[in-house]
Amino acid sequence: MSISFQVEATAGKARRGRLVTPHGEIQTPVFMPVGTLASVKGVPQDILEELGAQIILGNTYHLYLRPGVETVRNMGGLHGFMSWGRAILTDSGGFQVFSLSELRKLTEDGVTFRSHLDGSSHFFSPESAMEAQIGLGADIIMAFDECTEYPAEPERVRKSMELTLRWAGRSKKYFEQHKHAVPWNFSPQVSALSHQQTQIPRFARNDKQREDNDKQGEDEDKQREDNDKQRADEDRHVSRECASLRFAGRTKASVPTWSEQTQALFGIIQGGMDRGLRKESAERTIEIGFPGYAIGGLSVGEPRELTREIVESTLEHLPADKPRYLMGVGTPEEIVEYARLGVDMMDCVLPTRAARHGLLFTSEGKVSIKQARYAQDAGPLDPNCGCRVCQRYSRAYLRHLYASNEVLAQVLNTIHNLSFYLDTMQRVRHSISLGEKPRFLSGVRSQPRS
Ligand SMILES: [Zn+2]
Repeated sequence: MSISFQVEATAGKARRGRLVTPHGEIQTPVFMPVGTLASVKGVPQDILEELGAQIILGNTYHLYLRPGVETVRNMGGLHGFMSWGRAILTDSGGFQVFSLSELRKLTEDGVTFRSHLDGSSHFFSPESAMEAQIGLGADIIMAFDECTEYPAEPERVRKSMELTLRWAGRSKKYFEQHKHAVPWNFSPQVSALSHQQTQIPRFARNDKQREDNDKQGEDEDKQREDNDKQRADEDRHVSRECASLRFAGRTKASVPTWSEQTQALFGIIQGGMDRGLRKESAERTIEIGFPGYAIGGLSVGEPRELTREIVESTLEHLPADKPRYLMGVGTPEEIVEYARLGVDMMDCVLPTRAARHGLLFTSEGKVSIKQARYAQDAGPLDPNCGCRVCQRYSRAYLRHLYASNEVLAQVLNTIHNLSFYLDTMQRVRHSISLGEKPRFLSGVRSQPRS
């Protein structure tokens, strides 16, 4: 099993669905917070759970460079490494290679690039991007694609789309041959998280114990830590043994049934801003066959109205019974609009990035918390928000934290913005369940407050 998806209610083109992954069930349409480096910047995992984040994103390019795929794999994959028991999706690394790295050299085989961190040279191909994503162990992983720049000549868009199609075929082939090597396939300790989502993995629990203990307890903890390390080494040894047995086509009685769970590989539709090419890309990607489809290559500088047009026309060519993921969008109004058009999954850095710049989305419009007008404002950031920030702190305090460059400003601002996005999506799901088209909700505005 990798994933299953059922549409449970529709309203116009909008769908409410249930996406079951190896690490829990996701109610769609869903907004996925971005956790670039195995961390949603500034927000601890227990608060993400409290906010109702059902699935988060990791970026393969960043994690491959730091801390490296092997490190994450040896910790049981991203779930074990970052102590997150719910679902995770990783991108293929393609988008960052094309947007962040320097000195790219593109061939049929793949892309040679230099790290934006230290200038070291690396190579990504469909095969190596799959190998990295299998090692990271997200529930949903993405085919390696070329994100076509905007604007681009028609001939260039076609060539790029054709390359993405060939890479999609290669991604799928490699994935099918290696999907059983996913790290949580072999680790009962981490796999158990999928059944007890809020349970803290053993390593993390010991970290907390260590913090709480006084000097007297430290020796005991050291012993326990050593035992854990030994046990982890044994786990890894058993894991590798199971893996090699499975690859040899043999089974072993002690291998439990959870070992059958694998990741799900999604295909990505490209084709620039050309509706005809988008249709062709969709049809030919569906022909290759994936359990879910993403619309990529948007939000690359094109006008917003064009993004919407391309999304709407591309959705017409995607199968109704598979999840549809729109990559890298958008504002609160836009995520409501895309859900209305029939998108099931979305991600965007906007709520987290804007929060770090003091830009906050509220039911009364966008708030720039740095403004002097909030210096004496004792009211909550958003009177209609139930998040822990709005329940506890005043605008004056949030403004002070931001103006003083306190780390807590980023933490609290990000918690509120994520809460706003996640609550918005929850309201969208609710309205679809009631048979209402998700419309421009009165509480969803991103214009500045008047
Ligand atoms: Zn709030």
